Amino acid sequence: MILKIKELVTLKCQDIKPLKAQYPYFLPLMPLGYRAGDIESMSSYLCRQSEQQMELTHPFSRRLLSRYVLPENLPRCLKFPATGLKACNGFGVMSRRFIDAINTAAVGIFDAKYLTYTPFQPLNDPSARGLQRQHLAWCSDCWREDVAQESTPYVRLYWLCQQTKICVHHSSRLSEFCPACGEIQHQFSAFPRQWVCDRCGHNLHEYDFEHIAENYTNEEAWASNSIYRLIERINQTQTEPRPDSVKRTIDRLLLTLKISSVEFADHLNVAPKMINNIVSGKRRPYFPAFMDLCYRLDIPPDHFVFDEDILTEKELWKKNDKPVFGASSNLTDQQKRRISLALKSALQSQPNPPIRVSHFARKHEISYSALFFNFSNEYSELRRRWLKWQRENRRLHSTERLKYITEAVFSMARNGIYPSDRKLRDLGYVIPSDLRRRDVILLLRALQAIYSNLKS
Ligand SMILES: [Zn+2]
Ligand SMILES: [Zn+2]
Repeated sequence: MILKIKELVTLKCQDIKPLKAQYPYFLPLMPLGYRAGDIESMSSYLCRQSEQQMELTHPFSRRLLSRYVLPENLPRCLKFPATGLKACNGFGVMSRRFIDAINTAAVGIFDAKYLTYTPFQPLNDPSARGLQRQHLAWCSDCWREDVAQESTPYVRLYWLCQQTKICVHHSSRLSEFCPACGEIQHQFSAFPRQWVCDRCGHNLHEYDFEHIAENYTNEEAWASNSIYRLIERINQTQTEPRPDSVKRTIDRLLLTLKISSVEFADHLNVAPKMINNIVSGKRRPYFPAFMDLCYRLDIPPDHFVFDEDILTEKELWKKNDKPVFGASSNLTDQQKRRISLALKSALQSQPNPPIRVSHFARKHEISYSALFFNFSNEYSELRRRWLKWQRENRRLHSTERLKYITEAVFSMARNGIYPSDRKLRDLGYVIPSDLRRRDVILLLRALQAIYSNLKS
C-alpha cells in the first residue's frame, strides 16, 4: 500500500503525559524459561519489561534502578553506554544492582539472581574475563519457535557464554551477525526488541539459512551442552556452586588417585601452577581453564561442581595439547579484521603527536587489555612512539601551556573579569583535565590571589 501523505487529514498534535504516580514501572512478569536451562538473561527480561511499558530500555532501566535501589548503592552517574551494559548479565556491581532492584520490585515472586551469571562467580576469577560474550548471539530456530508459540523471542542466558557455540536444541551454530547488514548486536540495546537489528531493522531470525551440518567440533558441542546443563542444574535446584567447589573436587580426585598435584597436572598436560593455585585456595579458577579441565577429565562441569561422589578413570582422560587461553579471544573475526586494518593505517600515518593507545581503543570500542592481548606488537609500537614523543615534548609542552594560561588570565584581568577556573574553562583557554595538573593549579591560585589583592 502506498500512503499519499498529502491526502491525509492533518492531525492535531497533543502532548501525551504519562501519569507518573499511577504508572507501575514494573509488571509482575515471570522470567521465561524460569527454573530450566533455557532461562532468559537479565537484559532480555529488562527488554521485555520495557517493551510492555512502551518505553526504550535504557530510560526504563535507569528509572527502575533509581526507584528500587537504595541511594547509597546507586552509581553516581546513571548514563551508561550500550556496550558496557552486558555487565548486567554478569556477576559484577551492575548485575547486583539490577538483581536488587528486580527482587525488591517483584516482591520475591522469583529470584533475579538466576537471570545472571552471578552463581558462576566461584568458577571464574574476579575479572570475569573469559565468561561472557562481548555481543549478542542467538539461535534463529529457537526464536522462530518462540514466535510460533506466540511468545516473545527472548535471549537465553546460556547463549551469552563465550564457550557456547551451538544451540543445544537444534545443534546449529549460534548467529552473531544480522543476516541483512552483517552488523553485530549489543546484548542490551536501547530498542527493546532484541530480535530486530539495531542498525537496519531487519528481523534477525527471518532468513532461512542452509543448515550446514556439523560445522562445529566435538569440543564445541561438548562445551555448549555442558554450559546448558550447568545452568539447568543451578536453576532447577536453585543452588549455587560453593566458593570452594572446584578445590574440593580436585582434592578428592588427588586423594582417591593417590597422586600429587604436579603428577595430576602432568597427566592432563595442563600447567601445574594452575592446579596448585586452586588446591592451595590462592586463586579462583579462570573459567575457560576450568572448562578445559573438565573436558580433559571427561567430567561434565555440573557433576564436577555439585556431585560429591564423582570419580574419573585415568584411561578416559584426554591428553590434548597444552591449552593456550590467549587464543580464545572474545573478539569476533570480523572485529579483529577491522581493528587490524585500523591499526595498520594508524601506524603508517605517523601523525604528530602520535596516536595514544587509549584514544585508539575508545574510538574502536575495544578494551585496552583486548588490544594488548590480540595485537601485542602493534600495541607496543603505538606505546613506544607515544612515550618517545612525550619524553621529547613534555617540557616544551608544559611551558607552552603555562604561558598560554598566563596570557589568558592577563587578558581577562584587563577586561575586569575574575580569572576563575570555570571561566577559563568555559572560554576554552584551558581543558578540564589540565585544571587538575599541579603546575596549572599553583599558577592559577597565585594569579587569582594577585587579582583579588589588586581589586581590594
Ligand atoms: Zn535453537
Ligand atoms: Zn541489520
